[in-house]
Amino acid sequence: MQFMTWINRFTALGPTFSAQVLPTPLPQPSWVCRNFQLSHSLGLHPDWLENPEGLAVFSGNGLWEGMQAQASVYSGHQFGHWAGQLGDGRALCLGEYEGPQGPVEIQLKGAGKTPFSRMGDGRAVLRSSIREYLCSEAMAGLGIPTTRALCITSSPKPVLREELETASIVTRTAPSFIRFGHFEHFANEPAPSGPAHLRQLADFVIQHYFKDENFSTSNPYAELLAHVTSRTAKLIAQWQSVGFCHGVMNTDNMSILGLTLDYGPFQFLDGFNPQHICNHSDHQGRYAYGRQAQVAYWNLFCLGQALLPLIDDQDLAVKALETYKKVFSENWSQCFLAKLGLQVQEDEAAALEDQTLLNDGLEMLAKEQVDFSIFWRKLSHAAAKTDASSLEWQAVADLFIDQSAWVGWRDRYLSRLQSKPSEAAVKKMISINPKYVLRNHLAEAAIQKSKLGDHSEVETLFKLLQAPFDEQMQFDHYANLPPDWAAQIEISCSS
Ligand code: AMP
Ligand code: MG
Repeated sequence: MQFMTWINRFTALGPTFSAQVLPTPLPQPSWVCRNFQLSHSLGLHPDWLENPEGLAVFSGNGLWEGMQAQASVYSGHQFGHWAGQLGDGRALCLGEYEGPQGPVEIQLKGAGKTPFSRMGDGRAVLRSSIREYLCSEAMAGLGIPTTRALCITSSPKPVLREELETASIVTRTAPSFIRFGHFEHFANEPAPSGPAHLRQLADFVIQHYFKDENFSTSNPYAELLAHVTSRTAKLIAQWQSVGFCHGVMNTDNMSILGLTLDYGPFQFLDGFNPQHICNHSDHQGRYAYGRQAQVAYWNLFCLGQALLPLIDDQDLAVKALETYKKVFSENWSQCFLAKLGLQVQEDEAAALEDQTLLNDGLEMLAKEQVDFSIFWRKLSHAAAKTDASSLEWQAVADLFIDQSAWVGWRDRYLSRLQSKPSEAAVKKMISINPKYVLRNHLAEAAIQKSKLGDHSEVETLFKLLQAPFDEQMQFDHYANLPPDWAAQIEISCSS
């Protein structure tokens, strides 16, 4: 019962790149949640998420004909240090096919040990699978490039983390899960095989995943680096603009396609604090919210270093990497000015003035750690009114203790808006500043219910976060300030 033509191109690269591994079955599996819309948009068979055969495949209990499960090898820098070989320790790619919008890989996360599991058990727990499922769909809802999540299956099988939890598998999809770390791996393999494999991988990526991009010069590898640099810079600007902290931006978690990849200890900011560290294992704050742009640049240098033997010209590599600064700052400004309902101005002095207004606004938010999402959303509603004493403006004022700082900034903003901004501009602000983000405490509440066998809250959040800019009045309370206990939630690398 399957109509897919599996192409398994990555597997075809040969055993140097991946190991064929069968999933380890999850005992007594059941569905936790299923993403029927994604299944439909990827052109998957509608029965796959409905029938026992589908449940078997997505719980590691079987494969459809033509599928070739494989785990790929990669290496990487973790927390700034070379970590050597890592690889898919618990992820298995079941197969790849040509979908309606291009190549699709289907991957199980938590399907048992692979040759790259090292000390790990090859499993994922229900808690982390729900976080990945909900957050990747939330990112998609926000219009941010990401891997997607197709379903979660779970089992009573116990799995030991800090405490005893239960096993589950999240099935995720992407055109490819190739990471910076794949390139670093082969760059570190000695000659003559290393360089040959590196070239094979780079050619493979260019041919299959960058075919819509312009490769005009005689040095496609420098261009590949430039394209990845640009995609990564745009991605991080988008993360910053919604207050998303990834938590573990190691080079093995950086997608070569510029997708948000590997949802572990991520967090959407509650109060705006640029120093916020969402990962309790990140003692130095290497991956704090305000450091993500620099860290991504550092990671790109690791990729550049890995690609250097192919680029064969240090100046070209540096030139490709240097585009980061411009692309990131342009995109960052564009994203954040749009949050204010403004566009980047041509006139330099006027642009500088807007930038100062924005920076001062962010500084004001940071000073009081004002809730990031609530501020922007309320401001979007206020911007429609010229009268600063209106309820909408009062609602923003209520977020600040230092009223004189607030009023000072508000008046500068209002005078910048001059007259009442157009309905279209206000609509745009509402379509950019989300009402709903996956705050830690929301995910936590859904996880606690699911652990008791009730997956209704996962379903509710899933639907809510697919349309994060819509009012969805019946869910107003999901857009409230987090409860006090949210500050106590500790999210670590353990998943
Ligand atoms: P992460 O911190 O999730 O990005 O994982 C880093 C590396 O550890 C990757 O190679 C993962 O495949 C591997 N890994 C993480 N958790 C497990 C696990 N439970 N079993 C096997 N490998 C794991
Ligand atoms: Mg990872």
